[in-house]
Amino acid sequence: MDHRSRQRHLQSLLAENHIDGLLLTHLPNIRYLCGFTGSAAALVLTEKHKAFFTDSRYTTQSREEVQGARVIVSRKAPLVTAGEWLKSHYRKLTLGIEGEHLSVAAQARMKTSLTGGFRLKQAPSLVERARMVKDSDELERMRAAALLGVNLLDSLKSVLRVGAKECEVSAELEYAASRAGAEAMSFPTIIASGERSALPHGRASQHAIPPKGFVVCDFGVILGGYCSDMTRTLSVGRASNASRRAYEAVREAQQAALDAVRPGRTVGQVDQAARNLLVEQGLGRYFTHSTGHGVGLEIHEAPRLASGGKDILQPGMVVTIEPGVYLPGRFGVRIEDTIIVTDRGYEILTPANKELTEL
Ligand code: ZN
Ligand code: ZN
Repeated sequence: MDHRSRQRHLQSLLAENHIDGLLLTHLPNIRYLCGFTGSAAALVLTEKHKAFFTDSRYTTQSREEVQGARVIVSRKAPLVTAGEWLKSHYRKLTLGIEGEHLSVAAQARMKTSLTGGFRLKQAPSLVERARMVKDSDELERMRAAALLGVNLLDSLKSVLRVGAKECEVSAELEYAASRAGAEAMSFPTIIASGERSALPHGRASQHAIPPKGFVVCDFGVILGGYCSDMTRTLSVGRASNASRRAYEAVREAQQAALDAVRPGRTVGQVDQAARNLLVEQGLGRYFTHSTGHGVGLEIHEAPRLASGGKDILQPGMVVTIEPGVYLPGRFGVRIEDTIIVTDRGYEILTPANKELTEL
């Protein structure tokens, strides 16, 4: 990971964004910029300085991990230390803050402590935008995370049976993930069976898998700091005609969205491709979320593949393609792959069967 060039890139953007420096507090952004993986940190970047702040729990770890920035450890909270350091190094500074990630209370405290020539200003999402396009080291990690995720499907199928509780299925899957080396799950595993499959975010519950119907299985692991994400919908018993039609429509919609992926297209065009297909099948109103999202150090990151979205696809972006339909009280279907946008189209990171599987 070339942290120093990431830092230089960000420094080169300061002037055009009318700020003298950035105060970073969002941990995934800090990890991206300097490599620190702990849970308490702040990072200041100006034209002249790169200073990293953490507390004394991370003395050893920060010295081992942090690249390209001066490490300052204190017993106080990192944000307080950063404020004191800024006052001792600058008299006047327009400082960009991450408004989306800094609480109102923390912002107020910063304003009270940084008086005089300091100006705090909400910075645009510069790091989030840089993170959208992954470098080759990141792509390698994402491939490895996705592959670990795909391989969990076998353990999932081995425990998914009528009468098993959803949480037993997710527990087995998560145990297999840990044994295979996953650092954590990317998000609480979704195992939503029967009518619950119509809940787009049906976390695994105490419900037992009913004798018939879909089971939406959406899960991901973190490996090397990077998240994986995939969904398959399996049928317990023979699928009814209506549910089979919905399944095939979602599968076609997902393929239509994949076919729309190429550099230069907008994310909105990809969303539209999936949406059009489901509208044609009379299922448009049951497709209640966007088609996908960026994935990386975080499970949901930019760009969002939403209706009307203007972000332009570029090679190296890693996004999910996950249309779904949810018929309340009846059933739901979602099929999700994670892909890399390539020079010509896409590379699927989660190659697993998408034909309707009846268990
Ligand atoms: Zn997912
Ligand atoms: Zn997703």
